Amino acid sequence: MTIKTTSFSYPYSSATAVAQALGTIDKESQGVVLPIHVATTYIRGVDNSYPTGNVYSRADNPTYKPVEQLLCQLEQGEQALLFSSGMAAATSVFLALQPGDHVIVPHIMYWALRHWLLNFAKDWGLQFSFVDMTQLHLVKQAMQPGKTKLVWLETPGNPLWTISDITEIVALAHQADAWVAVDSTCATPILSQPLALGADIVMHSATKYLNGHSDVIAGALITAADHPYWQRIRSIRAQLGAVPSPYDAAQLLRGMRTLHLRVKAACENALFLAEQLQQHPQIKAVLYPGLPNFAGYEVACKQMSGGFGGMLSIQVVGGEAAAIHVAANTKLWKRATSLGGVESLIEHRASVEGAGTPCPSDLLRLSAGIEDKHELLADLLQALPSR
Ligand SMILES: *Cc1c(COP(=O)(O)O)cnc(C)c1O
Repeated sequence: MTIKTTSFSYPYSSATAVAQALGTIDKESQGVVLPIHVATTYIRGVDNSYPTGNVYSRADNPTYKPVEQLLCQLEQGEQALLFSSGMAAATSVFLALQPGDHVIVPHIMYWALRHWLLNFAKDWGLQFSFVDMTQLHLVKQAMQPGKTKLVWLETPGNPLWTISDITEIVALAHQADAWVAVDSTCATPILSQPLALGADIVMHSATKYLNGHSDVIAGALITAADHPYWQRIRSIRAQLGAVPSPYDAAQLLRGMRTLHLRVKAACENALFLAEQLQQHPQIKAVLYPGLPNFAGYEVACKQMSGGFGGMLSIQVVGGEAAAIHVAANTKLWKRATSLGGVESLIEHRASVEGAGTPCPSDLLRLSAGIEDKHELLADLLQALPSR
């Protein structure tokens, strides 16, 4: 896939873009890796202006620029912003709205964000409709023209990997003059580009696939166009100082250089595991967008290319106790939260999400890493009861 770009012209594929971090070299040293800028403050020019645009590092830092530029390339966006976490990025999109505004959010979404919406944003005055985004008539029904300002999507949606039709939902939202923001963390910019499908903002937990090594917490937003709403989000980042350390930004760029290879490997492993596990008598269901019998398969085929992601879930025969037993008995799979790293992780999600979660209690979430797929399968098979 060749990347179209609105900001500047980079004539190579996403594989090349990430491997070379757009091929930028350091002007001063001619280094193929860019320096880390640790300064918190910058000198004014004689005319009292800031000649480089750098002012104070609570708002911005030159170390972010190559990362943000690469994200713009991959997502075909106009501008990007790095944040201190995925949650800082996501909540800034909501905080940029006004109390009283109505937003439509998915019934199946990243747990911590749903928790924040219910326990903070609601009290702050935002109004919500939690909607099953796979049912377009329900999205249409929930839309309150003039009042609905934002439709938030997450596709595939954590942890059931529900697929939302970005193109169709953008059409409904734009008819009602609402923005569309997409949490594309699990799709990655390699498999899906929501802005090209009409969305206004894309969000990533860069902690996951973008960095890929479980050693940086960061987030990102990419916008299709500059507008006052985007400027408000930028201003929230600056005022709260919701920015990553320059070291983390540099580490993230290093992680992103292998994004293409890692995502390809994780997709291949996840598909293999999904296909193999759905035949197991102790597994009630395998949830993976790449299985033709999965509800979102056709929409996934339409809006994802190159794979269906590295995330899958299994529902274990015998309920919650049986599921926890499997997670406790894996050796190679690491029993921990998070996803999108090179190492495979397994987690009983209902224990994490607590009361009110739409996540079934017999569900285990699997983040396929890049290890040998046969070894990953064998480890799960030995952990599953043989009955
Ligand atoms: C992890 C995650 C987030 C939150 O990101 P953090 O970097 O942990 O703050 C948001 N959305 C999805 C889909 C995630 O997996």
